[in-house]
Amino acid sequence: MRTGQRWRYEVPAAAFIVCGVGLLFQAGRPSPLLLGLALASFVLMCAWARCPRCGSAVVWHALGRARVWKWMTAVVELRQCPACSFEGTDSTGPGGATT
Ligand SMILES: [Zn+2]
Repeated sequence: MRTGQRWRYEVPAAAFIVCGVGLLFQAGRPSPLLLGLALASFVLMCAWARCPRCGSAVVWHALGRARVWKWMTAVVELRQCPACSFEGTDSTGPGGATT
């Protein structure tokens, strides 16, 4: 695999953002389905987005350091591990400087 691991948090992060925006538009009476999807994608995002080097849950680190209203940007702008500064590129292949 040379695609790196960024999709592992970007996919659920994207789903979380989509659900979050949907919930904002439904502020009056949020759909339980949308709420469940948002929660599920949030959990997936936290569970999948682990640093390949030190194994720390980078999303938790980002959320812990950012204010609540900056979580979205903190997660989206997450480009390296907050714990060990490892950049989110694939570490399994030598010279695997792919996108
Ligand atoms: Zn790390």
